[in-house]
Amino acid sequence: MSEPTKAPAASAGSRAATKKELPEHFKAYKHVWVFIEQERGQVHPVSWELMGAGRKLADKLKVELAAIVLGPDDEATQHAAAEAFSYGADLTYVVADPLLTDYRNEAYTKALTDVVNTYKPEILLLGATTLGRDLAGSVATTLLTGLTADCTELDVDADGSLAATRPTFGGSLLCTIYTLNYRPQMATVRPRVMPMPEREEKPIGRIITHPLGMVEDDIVTKILSFLPDRDSAKSNLAYADVVVAGGLGLGSPENFQLVRQLAGVLGAEYGCSRPLVQKGWVTSDRQIGQTGKTIRPKLYIAAGISGAIQHRVGVEGADMIVAINTDKNAPIFDFAHVGIVTDAIRLLPALTEAFRARLSPHSRDRIAS
Ligand SMILES: Cc1cc2nc3c(=O)[nH]c(=O)nc-3n(C[C@H](O)[C@H](O)[C@H](O)COP(=O)(O)OP(=O)(O)OC[C@H]3O[C@@H](n4cnc5c(N)ncnc54)[C@H](O)[C@@H]3O)c2cc1C
Repeated sequence: MSEPTKAPAASAGSRAATKKELPEHFKAYKHVWVFIEQERGQVHPVSWELMGAGRKLADKLKVELAAIVLGPDDEATQHAAAEAFSYGADLTYVVADPLLTDYRNEAYTKALTDVVNTYKPEILLLGATTLGRDLAGSVATTLLTGLTADCTELDVDADGSLAATRPTFGGSLLCTIYTLNYRPQMATVRPRVMPMPEREEKPIGRIITHPLGMVEDDIVTKILSFLPDRDSAKSNLAYADVVVAGGLGLGSPENFQLVRQLAGVLGAEYGCSRPLVQKGWVTSDRQIGQTGKTIRPKLYIAAGISGAIQHRVGVEGADMIVAINTDKNAPIFDFAHVGIVTDAIRLLPALTEAFRARLSPHSRDRIAS
């Protein structure tokens, strides 16, 4: 006699096993929101990158895309709110108050959670910048909802749930995380992971203002003075069009200068793999990869870099990847567009000379622009 056939058990981690009917009070949550990060009049480009990603999610869900701008009641805040329409916002929420002049967690958390509780977005996206990481954590814990940090992909499932994918276990695994039973579904995304959408000149649309409802005495943090980071403008690595990087294969800090020289001739930024930072050969702001910067240049030249997954995730958005490596089996050749199997220590000076001879200062600017 044969065993009775058992229905296949739902696997422990399957979506079907965990999805419940959304609690009644969360059913009113609709629309996709993007937090527009602006500090001292500068909108962080990751906000516009997220507007591009948010537009796709909103279109799929057939809901509106809204921007949320916090800041002092000044021209820069108004400008950021107006710009959001040029990056695809259907409407913009604004909390403008002098207490929001400089970033302070308490005031920003209060502003954002109040607006969320009033207007109820289904999805809330923030940039995984220093400010965004700090704010997203406290907003999620205040709202008692789920947050997936440092996402590399965002999508919506057939049932409308946000599928937020991020690398885990040191980048060796990609995992997709859902916030099934709480709202809003929150996610942060690092700069340059999503492509920058085209800016289109658009008239200012609906702006909804919301009061902060706080006084200075409610805020424990006091800003005594602001010291700009002297090095903040030093590296434009994340936003450079051309990047030359070196790895352990270069063998010594002296040889790393070959990378800097080629970058100099190309009008490019230079970067490196993580071991070079750990060895103290290069400063940490130049590290590319999962725990460094994500880049999306038109051209990426990698010399003596093996192409480990943690490096790959930071560069695979590049239009053209040129790899120079002595080992023809190096993993970087699996995703490079052009592979050169040779000694980088010999090739880099030759490339530098060849480009120096061919590029006038004028055409160099053109490459960099
Ligand atoms: C949690 C975690 C986070 C991490 N985050 C990052 C990150 O953000 N960024 C990152 O880069 N790494 C990161 N790593 C480290 C990563 O796993 C790799 O160890 C690292 O990327 C390897 O650096 P590499 O390619 O320079 O060195 P190696 O892997 O040692 O590769 C050197 C390469 O150079 C080649 N080579 C040798 N001599 C020459 C020569 N003369 N000319 C040309 N090629 C030559 C070799 O064939 C080899 O392929 C992380 C690791 C972990 C666990």
